[in-house]
Parts: sequence; C-alpha cells; structure tokens
Amino acid sequence: MSASLQTPATTVRRLPQRASYDAETIHRILDEALICHAGFVLHDRPVVIPTIHWRDGDRLYFHGSPASGLLRNLRNGVQTCVTVTLLDGLVMARSAFHHSMNYRSAVVFGTAAEVSDREEKLRALDALVEHVCRGRSKDVRPPNEVELRQTLVLSLPITEASAKIRTGGPVDDEEDYALPIWAGVIPLNLTPAEPVTDARCSMEVPEYAARYGR
Ligand SMILES: Cc1cc2nc3c(=O)[nH]c(=O)nc-3n(C[C@H](O)[C@H](O)[C@H](O)COP(=O)(O)OP(=O)(O)OC[C@H]3O[C@@H](n4cnc5c(N)ncnc54)[C@H](O)[C@@H]3O)c2cc1C
Repeated sequence: MSASLQTPATTVRRLPQRASYDAETIHRILDEALICHAGFVLHDRPVVIPTIHWRDGDRLYFHGSPASGLLRNLRNGVQTCVTVTLLDGLVMARSAFHHSMNYRSAVVFGTAAEVSDREEKLRALDALVEHVCRGRSKDVRPPNEVELRQTLVLSLPITEASAKIRTGGPVDDEEDYALPIWAGVIPLNLTPAEPVTDARCSMEVPEYAARYGR
C-alpha cells in the first residue's frame, strides 16, 4: 500500500467500497488514460476542458499554448479538479435500473504551477511523448528554443485524489434473475487500428506504433 491521498474533498460517499485513495492505484489510472478533463471556475461559472495530461512521480503535467484559457487560469493559481475515466465495460442487467458500467476513474484536486526551469521543462515534454507512445521520445526531434517558448508547461502535485473502480457483472434484484432476459458485460477497451504511414514518410512502421497498446 502506498500513500493515501484521501482528504474530506476526495472522500467518495456513494458505494465507498469502490473507492481507493492509494497513490499507486491512482497513478496507474492516470498513466493508462490518454486524456483528462480539467475543471476550474471562471467568473463564477464552472468550465471543464479536455486536455492531455501525463505523470512524473507524484506530479501531474499539462502543456499547451500560453494563450489557452485553461493554462492561463491555472498558471494564475486558479484551483483545478482533474478527472480521468477508463471505460472497461457495459454492464447489462435484467432491469433497466441496475444497468451500469465497469470503469476505473480518478479525480485529483490542486493548484498548478508553471515549470520554468529549462531542463525540467524539456524532461517534462519528453515524458509527454512517452505518455502518449512509450518508446517514441528517442526517435523524435526535441523542441527547439522557439517551440519551447511557445509551450507552457504546468505541474500539479498529486496530493489530494481519489480513485473509483467498478468491476464484475450485473447485480440484479433477486426476483429478476428468473426473467428470460440476457444479462452480462460487454467488455470495452481502447484498440488501435493499423498505423497509416504519412505520405511523405518512407520509414518502416516502428515497433511501438505497430504494436501500440496501453
Ligand atoms: C463511466 C462512469 C459512469 C458513471 N455513471 C454514473 C451515473 O450514471 N450515475 C451516478 O450517480 N454515478 C455515476 N458514476 C459514479 C460517479 O462518478 C460518482 O462516483 C457518483 O455520482 C457518486 O459520487 P459521490 O456522491 O459518492 O461523490 P461526490 O460527493 O460527487 O464526490 C466526492 C468526492 O468523491 C470522489 N469521487 C466521486 N466519484 C468519483 C469517481 N467516479 N472517481 C474518482 N473519485 C470520485 C471525488 O474526489 C469527489 O470530490 C459513474 C462513474 C463513471 C466513471
């Protein structure tokens, strides 16, 4: 068991047996998810923006144009709530009421800060490429000075977080098990299709693209 990231704000109330506050469990969910949704309050209204995240140790990273509303506000110290969801299956119960989904999700609260140290920023951007496609960073041209200046990188400590995980089949009311209705789970996962080589590229498809998986 690693550190617990439970706080009053991250305590799951409904079906608390599905919750986990274990840092390693939360890290694994964050690492598998390609994207997150980051929420913040702007002029008294909530805004939720999809974006790429990645993790290095106990920090979550975001990047983009310094003009991005999300990044601009988070850089200015606006608190955020970041959510990722991995959808593992559709749970078909006998009753409409007991239909559900299998999932692993994580919620992280905090305040981000700009990564301004050049070396740390380069390391972080390298980790971003690895997050999206493990093995790719050694092949790509690293960012030049102009690209570095045009990219804002923020980091958020993962100190206040929760995970929630549902697994298994449907749970029906006892009297419904006798009904002649198919019940079970339709598993779902992210499956890459065949890579499509760019028209101006004459290279072989690398192993990490040919066998992409998370
Ligand atoms: C794919 C998917 C589909 C879902 N569909 C439904 C639905 O249709 N109806 C429904 O009521 N619920 C649904 N849920 C569950 C939902 O996310 C909440 O867990 C649920 O609303 C109960 O929240 P709560 O009242 O316990 O917590 P809240 O009071 O809403 O939140 C308290 C804290 O608990 C933690 N928390 C709550 N939910 C999650 C979570 N999913 N993952 C990680 N941390 C969490 C957060 O830190 C949050 O700040 C779904 C979840 C997923 C991932």
